[in-house]
Amino acid sequence: MIVRQFVQTAFQQNTRIVACEQTGRAICIDPGEPSPAVVKFVNDSGLRLEGIVLTHGHLDHVGGAAFLHETFPEAEIIAHRDEADLYYALPRQPLLMGFQPHQLASLGMDYDDPPKITRFAEHMDILEVGELRFQVRHCPGHTLGHIVLVEESEQTVFTGDCLFNGTIGRTDLPGGDPSQLIESIEKNILSLPDDFTVQCGHGPDTTVGRERINNPFLNGLYRR
Ligand SMILES: [Zn+2]
Ligand SMILES: [Zn+2]
Repeated sequence: MIVRQFVQTAFQQNTRIVACEQTGRAICIDPGEPSPAVVKFVNDSGLRLEGIVLTHGHLDHVGGAAFLHETFPEAEIIAHRDEADLYYALPRQPLLMGFQPHQLASLGMDYDDPPKITRFAEHMDILEVGELRFQVRHCPGHTLGHIVLVEESEQTVFTGDCLFNGTIGRTDLPGGDPSQLIESIEKNILSLPDDFTVQCGHGPDTTVGRERINNPFLNGLYRR
């Protein structure tokens, strides 16, 4: 599995191109901003971008979907059904987060309507990308339709904004629910073996085992 990470937006979001080494088939997980560097990497590596997979609809994870889809129009846009409303509200998201209309252009947050979701990912669906198989797990709590992707043979889980190295996703935005987030993480991520790599939506990678032991939201240290 080839994974190339690009840190994007003022939120330092991890956009990733993930590709099958044998076939060159690839997906982009969470294109944060319009990025010629991402396009160049795909083209220079001879990859075929088949999908743009959105762990969830927040602007720092989907702000580059339109640009990427214009460049690779054959790539499917894949998200969970419960995330559609938030995703299509992209132009209004900065205002919901407290930014003022006159600030948006200078912050690169003057979004147009994003491209249509072409495929809904359901809980336990398998997304095949060459020889890679990404199992979709619905993990609400940060947003209603957040998904994580488990690639079992590569022992890797892409957790978006559910789980980070040492912390968990925020739950104070619309659709957030702290109890539900913990339940989603316990059921869908901590149920994986300890040596699985956790590739997070922000910040450094970690492992399931490290988070099980050290993460204060998961080891009982921090009680709700
Ligand atoms: Zn988010
Ligand atoms: Zn984020």
